[in-house]
Amino acid sequence: MVIGKPLFTPEQIQERVKALAEEITRDYAGKEILAVGILKGAFMFFSDLVRQIRVPITVDFIIASSYVKTQTTGEVKVYYDVREPLEGKNVLLIEDIVDTGITLNFIRERILQRLPESLKICAFLDKKERRIVDVPIDYKGFVIPNEYVVGYGLDYNNKYRNLPYIAIFKKSMNL
Ligand code: 5GP
Repeated sequence: MVIGKPLFTPEQIQERVKALAEEITRDYAGKEILAVGILKGAFMFFSDLVRQIRVPITVDFIIASSYVKTQTTGEVKVYYDVREPLEGKNVLLIEDIVDTGITLNFIRERILQRLPESLKICAFLDKKERRIVDVPIDYKGFVIPNEYVVGYGLDYNNKYRNLPYIAIFKKSMNL
């Protein structure tokens, strides 16, 4: 198991997060946001991002997963659902990475059924090449190649989430 050199350094990440927060602050001027983080992967991005958004925010989370090791199963399980009422709220869904789009699409449709005033999506990473379900991403951090990445909240078998950077994860030395 090998972790490659950083694909995005902590400095690059913080710069991008700041720019996203500024864009969100501008777009939601005069409104209140209900920020919904998709756990576990988004925990670090979520906390960095909301700290820099300058409009009133309430927070909640959803714990969902469609992944077993590095294979997408296509099945999404929800272990914890948003408890805040969503009707009439401006919901901002915050995700770590969009791969096939299956997880996000499932969660998006589930939230829309609860009639929010608006729903936008912010994803830190977009692995565009792998998309199966087309899901609208309103704010995105970086588009990345088709590689398995870890760090900044993202895991392999629940490890490496604490790395302050994003790195490509390989099972061999051939990086
Ligand atoms: P999707 O449903 O879009 O295929 O998968 C989304 C979820 O799969 C993400 O929330 C994340 O948990 C996981 N995932 C997809 N690609 C990667 C990756 O490169 N690294 C890690 N650590 N998780 C990934």
